Amino acid sequence: MQDKKITIAIDGFSSTGKSTLAKQLARRLNYIYVDTGAMYRAVTLYALQQGFISVSHFDEQGLVTHLPKVTLKFVFNTEVAHSEVFLNNVNVEHDIRSMEVSNYVSKIAALPQVREKLVEQQRFMGREKGIVMDGRDIGTVVFPDAELKIFMTAGADARARRRFDELTGQGRDVSYEEVLKNIEERDYIDSNRKDSPLQKAVDAIEVDNTNLSIDAQFEKILKLATAVL
Ligand code: C5P
Repeated sequence: MQDKKITIAIDGFSSTGKSTLAKQLARRLNYIYVDTGAMYRAVTLYALQQGFISVSHFDEQGLVTHLPKVTLKFVFNTEVAHSEVFLNNVNVEHDIRSMEVSNYVSKIAALPQVREKLVEQQRFMGREKGIVMDGRDIGTVVFPDAELKIFMTAGADARARRRFDELTGQGRDVSYEEVLKNIEERDYIDSNRKDSPLQKAVDAIEVDNTNLSIDAQFEKILKLATAVL
């Protein structure tokens, strides 16, 4: 194995398979994997639990005031062989993937105070490199000096189909139409927010995986990673 450790930043639109690729890379390279979307989702779950956000209102100031009370951590679950997110010491890995959380997360992620808190934690987790992090602003904001930056895209229909299969596979009651609508709405809010919008870093490599298998994609990116190692 190589001695040099690098930072791999994977950004892109919702449901483009970022986490699948990131997990494969982390496993092969023996790197840490961090799913930053899980962190924004956990803060959203907190906002819902505390009643700071609902269909009819959004108490931004209330959430911002309570942010110091929010602690997040990742704990490796050996049974499923991946890390799970804990919100104030409670495992919320399942709850953060609900459609309810998906419907509010982009609003919460647009708040600069939320981003500031989470970006600080993300930089801390990556301070020793040897990390694969996926999200929307990793190559642009969190680790602008990452040695390898990937920007993933795929057609909205292919993405909605994959997310729908994943959610129904977990036994969740969702319709394809609501999944597609959610993906399109999140892409719009994430790309148009003022603070750290989703955009391709100038030095990121774009990968459209609409017609690329998971394995073919992995081999392609692994080659790119080993070239910089
Ligand atoms: O990756 P995932 O789809 O779980 O992310 C959920 C949401 O969290 C995104 O739609 C986006 O609003 C927000 N997010 C973000 N910045 C990141 C990661 C996720 O704004 N680095």
